[in-house]
Amino acid sequence: MNADIAAASRELKGGGVVVLPTETVYGLAANALDEKAVRKIFTIKGRPLNNPLILHVLDSSWLVRYSHGEKYLVRVEKITGAFWPGPITIILPKKAIIPDIVTSGFDTVAIRCPDHPIFREVLRASDLPLAAPSANPFGYVSPTCIGQVKATLGDRVKIMLDGGECTVGLESTILDITSTVPKILRPGAITADAISKVLGEDVIDYDVQIVSENPNAPGQLKQHYCTDTRLLLFEYGNRDLLQYFAGKTAVVFMQRPENFDGIAKNLQLPTEAISWFSDDGNLNGVAKNLFSTLQRLDSAHYDTILCERPRRTGIGIAIDDRLSRAAAKFRQ
Ligand code: AMP
Ligand code: MG
Repeated sequence: MNADIAAASRELKGGGVVVLPTETVYGLAANALDEKAVRKIFTIKGRPLNNPLILHVLDSSWLVRYSHGEKYLVRVEKITGAFWPGPITIILPKKAIIPDIVTSGFDTVAIRCPDHPIFREVLRASDLPLAAPSANPFGYVSPTCIGQVKATLGDRVKIMLDGGECTVGLESTILDITSTVPKILRPGAITADAISKVLGEDVIDYDVQIVSENPNAPGQLKQHYCTDTRLLLFEYGNRDLLQYFAGKTAVVFMQRPENFDGIAKNLQLPTEAISWFSDDGNLNGVAKNLFSTLQRLDSAHYDTILCERPRRTGIGIAIDDRLSRAAAKFRQ
């Protein structure tokens, strides 16, 4: 076994926390069965205890150890068969072996099977279910590379495994399969349409409006993923807002704008103040670069970041959800 995997596994078995890469974002992991270890995650992140954690498992055969899926077996088999390992979390009734701190006292537990080889090797080596939220201070932009983790958590965690850039870049889709009609609690790379096709039944899609007024998932906060720099959003393709800003302003487009030198000149901004999430605007590429771009601009000392919203289709719904919540702090 690779020495890093062995060290991480030892640390977890001993009640410690480690930073691990996943395909979504970097995670701060602890043994989910060890209350004291899980408490360290909340302390390091400054995360409120009423915000439950996701349990990570090696494969669907682990589900029976930690959850009561009997009533939902057909749905569980369809979802895990189609999407696991991958960026979708399912909500199931929990077994008593899971400490209340993981689920914030709820009688359900959120479970996911990650697709990153390093995370999977640690699960296999430790044979432990791992509770793992994103490896960043609570409320800040999620990390998609180890440099971002180090920049915000510093030396608070001894073992951090570098698994390169996260390929998805957005947190998992969360699907409640215990409700009469399955319901998306958090949008992600796996969309309601894709889930509905696999299940062969309707799925209630996520609605930014409803969630922000009346959260239907614990821990889904109106304000989250926030930069320190003021972040303002403008509609896809509508550049009217830009003319009101100059000086220390950064602008981010969904895709590389044609004639971007001209745009910079027009707005009286240096060319380095203009960025884009993806050269061709492909939304999977946007998702992958979303958080790293926001974090880069946040540490570049601009007064304001003006960010274009995506088209609200497919994974664009999840991207727009993260951007809307990141900008909520700055909305009057
Ligand atoms: P993260 O912040 O990425 O660790 O994601 C954890 C999120 O999963 C929480 O903020 C909740 O929104 C959601 N979650 C975790 N457990 C449950 C649960 N039992 N029921 C509903 N949502 C949950
Ligand atoms: Mg998070």
